[in-house]
Order: sequence, then C-alpha cells, then structure tokens
Amino acid sequence: MENHGQKRSAHEQEDILDGVQAVLLDVEGTTTPLMFVQEKLFPYIKTNAKTYLNSHYGEDECRGDIEELRKQAEADKEASVEGVISIPQVADDNKEAVVDATVKNVTWQMEKDLKTKALKQLQSHMWREAYKTGLLQGEIYDDVPAALKEWSSEGKRIYTYSLDNVEGQKLLFGYSDKGNLLELFSGYFDATAGAKTEKDSYIHIVGEINVKSEKVLYITDLPTEAKAASDAGLKTVVVVREGNTQLSDDDKQCFFTVTSFEELCSDDSHKAKRVEGEHKGAKHEEASQVDGTKEAVHAGEEAAD
Ligand SMILES: [Mg+2]
Repeated sequence: MENHGQKRSAHEQEDILDGVQAVLLDVEGTTTPLMFVQEKLFPYIKTNAKTYLNSHYGEDECRGDIEELRKQAEADKEASVEGVISIPQVADDNKEAVVDATVKNVTWQMEKDLKTKALKQLQSHMWREAYKTGLLQGEIYDDVPAALKEWSSEGKRIYTYSLDNVEGQKLLFGYSDKGNLLELFSGYFDATAGAKTEKDSYIHIVGEINVKSEKVLYITDLPTEAKAASDAGLKTVVVVREGNTQLSDDDKQCFFTVTSFEELCSDDSHKAKRVEGEHKGAKHEEASQVDGTKEAVHAGEEAAD
C-alpha cells in the first residue's frame, strides 16, 4: 500500500477496515502518550517506593514483593551483574535496612532499564494502589474512546498488546482520564505472548483470539512491530503522534499511516466530520462527542467495580 504521508480518501480508509473482525492495539505511543509512561508512570515508582514499602511492610503481599526482589538480587550477584544491590532478609526488626536496600535496588534496576519479573511485580502493586486512590490516571488520546466505541458497536473485537503486564493495562484503561473503558475490550496480551517485533507473537495472538490473521488489524506507533505483524498476515496501521519516534520516508511508503483514530472510523458521522474537518464548527461537534463517550463509560464504571 502506497502512502506518501498525504491525507487518504474515505474510500482508502474503508478499505483498511474492510472485513476486519478484530483490532489489536499497541498501547504506548498508540492509545497513550509515551510521555505518560516516561514522565508519570515510571517516576511515580522512584518517588514513592520508600513510602509504599514503609506503609505496607507488615503485609504479606509487600513482603512477598521484597522477597522476590531479594532473590533476584542474589541471582544477579551470582551472575556478576555490575552494580547489583543486595537486599537483606525481611524481618520485623530490620525494616529500615530492608526498605532502604529495596528502594536502592529498585532505583538501580530502573536506571539500568531492567525489566525483571520481581521489579514488575512491585511496580504493578504500587500502580494498582495509585490508580485506585486516584494518584494516577491513565492517559488516553482524545480520539481513542470514540473509535473503540464505534468498532465495538460494529461487532469488532478489541484487544491490546503491550509489554506492560495485563493487570497494568487493565488499570490504565480502567482508571483512565476518559473513564472506565474496560467494557470495550475483549482481551489483553502482554510480553508472555512473545516479543512485539517477532512474527510468531502475532501468529500466537491470532490463534488465541481465533480470528483469521487477514481479518485482524494491528495498530502501533512502531514500524518494526508493524512489519512483524504484517509478516504474520495481519493488516497494519502505523499511528503518527507527537512525541513518537519519527518515521523514515521508507516507513511512510511501506505502511498505512494515520495521525488520529478518527481516520479509521467508518461511521457516517465521522466521515462527515472528516469532510468538514476544515470548518471551525467541527471542533465543537468533536468535543461534544467525546463528552458523550465519557458519560457512557462512566455509567459502566460502577458495574465494573
Ligand atoms: Mg508503542
């Protein structure tokens, strides 16, 4: 499919969704700004680890998290990983030393961009608390909820595929700045499905959701992921958003690109909106549609809780 970065006609947009039964979504850079992850989600852990560990130190879950980190540190030491910070055994009379070492270990792992299971476990528990208490709210691009709603109403199933674990993804969409969006999703895939740049991961996912690969549309910000999905037979769209890695001219020619999910809506009202996009009045219409979605998802929130 050729594209030179120009606006596509409504006809072309219909083509890409033609026959699509399931939409698989990347999260970071696609539904959610990379900045949210880099500037809110991860810094939250570094800033709050000490407070969190101190206040939950007596609880089994927190002690389990520390124990996993301690075991990981032992394994790292065994493997001569540079700079590893050991953690003492959890004990009632050892709280300060254990918390201090755990915070240092977590900070060290995050600075080295390590993604160990032990680190992810503590992070997910900390984020769960932060989302549930309103300290964190998942950021979702404005154009996303209306598109998900439309695809869902057309009978398309919607899935996510992110390196963030399934629980983290559910928190992000469940406690989002657009309300609880979980009812729009049929399922979630994470790193356990395989690497996002491997063709086999997409073959696995397509098998799991039981839809033919050519009837699945994968939307991502990364051409390397789109290539792997495309090699597995999926349709692909690369979303170009502010703050994402710039696409090369080759990428722009190889992949179908959009700057907003609105370009992937086939609904008549959206089509009309695109045609009238240049008119000033369109902005107002858009805003009220987003508000309408917000109300609808908020209504679903109580039931989901
Ligand atoms: Mg991404």
